[in-house]
Formats: sequence, structure tokens, C-alpha cells
Amino acid sequence: MKSNAHILAPRLDYRPVEERIKDFDEACLGFSPETARLEASRCVQCPSPQPCLLACPLHNDIPAAMREIARGDFLKAAAIYRQTSNFPDLCGRLCPDELLCESSCPVGKIDHSIRLGRLEAFVADHQREAEGLPIPEIPPPTGWHVAVVGSGPAGLTVAEELAKLGHAVTIFEASHIWLCLRLQKGAGWRPASTGT
Ligand code: SF4
Repeated sequence: MKSNAHILAPRLDYRPVEERIKDFDEACLGFSPETARLEASRCVQCPSPQPCLLACPLHNDIPAAMREIARGDFLKAAAIYRQTSNFPDLCGRLCPDELLCESSCPVGKIDHSIRLGRLEAFVADHQREAEGLPIPEIPPPTGWHVAVVGSGPAGLTVAEELAKLGHAVTIFEASHIWLCLRLQKGAGWRPASTGT
């Protein structure tokens, strides 16, 4: 392993319990730009095939993203995640990293595992704040209209990919609480449950 394996994991702060039991906002306060760079610099850039990349169901190029975060180029890191992931902001928070990429990473045998999910969420949030949510180019309509049942990550992903091919998409969701409306502007789909 390279010498940066000895860098100690920076601390992640959480909102006080008495505050966070009153709402559904995120408990973890996440990284600052400085602590994100420090955390990513703990990556030792394993030789190929890198365990984290193999363990990730999307095969996100995590080593390349760690390199860019450590350099402070958060936008480039976000672009790396978006090559293989439709929702790095969601996946960075919801994916069971402790069972996948993080548990495969050898740095976790020395100190706390690199918080790969939190870093992914950090750069996706940074990208959204710096330049807005990237809205993909939508080609002219194909005339096909596809129904997608369920607005979980799989449903939203297939809806986005279909919309990027020019198909009209309607998502059917049993819950009245919408997880994400990120396609609404570009893709021309509408929430079927509201009839809007
Ligand atoms: S397994 Fe861990 S140390 Fe190795 S490249 Fe991936 S993040 Fe870096």
C-alpha cells in the first residue's frame, strides 16, 4: 500500500439527537471540502481490478473519483459518478456501502473504512449547488409512450434512460409522496397519480 494509508479518518459530525428526532432531515452533517479531500486521500489507488469498483453494482469508477476529490476537483468527480449512475446523490446515501464498496476496501483493515458513499453524495450535492442538476439532452419524440410502475431508484433510472432515447414516460406510483421529479422539465413525463 502507498504511504497515505496511514492518514487517519476525519471525523463525521451528526446533528444532536434531541434536534433530529423532531424532523426527517439528514442526521449526518457530511463532509466539508477540506475533510472530503482528506478522506479521499486515504485511497491507496489499488491496482486493477480494484476491489471497490468490482463490489459496486454500477461499477462506478471509484478510484478515479477518489483521485479527483483528493485533488479538490469535485465537479470532475461528480461527472465520473454520473457516467455510470443516474442518482449519485441518492445512491451515495441509500446504497448499503458497508456491505459493498466500503467493505471491499483494504483501507478498512487499518482504520475506519473510507466513507465512499458519503463522498459520492458530497460531490453530487456540490455539483447541484455549483451548476444545478444536470438535465440530459432529450432527442425529438419517438412517438412511443412507456409506463413505468414504481418510482424507486430502478423505476426512476429506467424512466430517465427511456426519456433520453426520446420516449415519453409516465411513472405510476402508489404513494402520493414523490421521491424525485428530476425528469419533469426535460422528459415530458407527468405523475400519473395526480393527473397533472
Ligand atoms: S478499494 Fe479502497 S483503497 Fe482501493 S482503490 Fe478502491 S477506494 Fe481506493
